[in-house]
Amino acid sequence: MNGVSHLIGGISAAVVLGVHSSSQLAMVAVSALLPDIDRPNSLLGRFIPVVPSLLEKIPGKRTVTHSLIMGLGLWLLLKGISPELAIAFMIGYISHLILDLFTGYIAFLWPIPWKVGVPLFGIPPVFVETAAVALWGVWILLDGYTYFLNLF
Ligand SMILES: [Zn+2]
Repeated sequence: MNGVSHLIGGISAAVVLGVHSSSQLAMVAVSALLPDIDRPNSLLGRFIPVVPSLLEKIPGKRTVTHSLIMGLGLWLLLKGISPELAIAFMIGYISHLILDLFTGYIAFLWPIPWKVGVPLFGIPPVFVETAAVALWGVWILLDGYTYFLNLF
């Protein structure tokens, strides 16, 4: 999925789960984009020098940055600083992994090299992504926007 889809998915999940503070939503936005720093052309990766290229070449795409071990490690680090931000981090991070499962394969248990995914009957990822964004639009039109009203 692209960065915009991950932002929409992460922020929507957070709002539905009752996360409304701006600092937490900012953390959700960053953590929803963070796993894709293993690609230099990703929304977040294009602003970070060198690291995305190294991550893409050495462990590979959708490996360490899409793993349980990285998610738990960063969550533990953040939990010591701010439990509220740690929760927000996990919402964004997990939403990213779940969305990626439907458009490809991720090494969720990295460094174990197994890659898991939920292939949707061979439907190309771009159609899955388009359908997800369309469903999000329908949800917003069918009163889903009321979740966002609590933000302001
Ligand atoms: Zn990803």
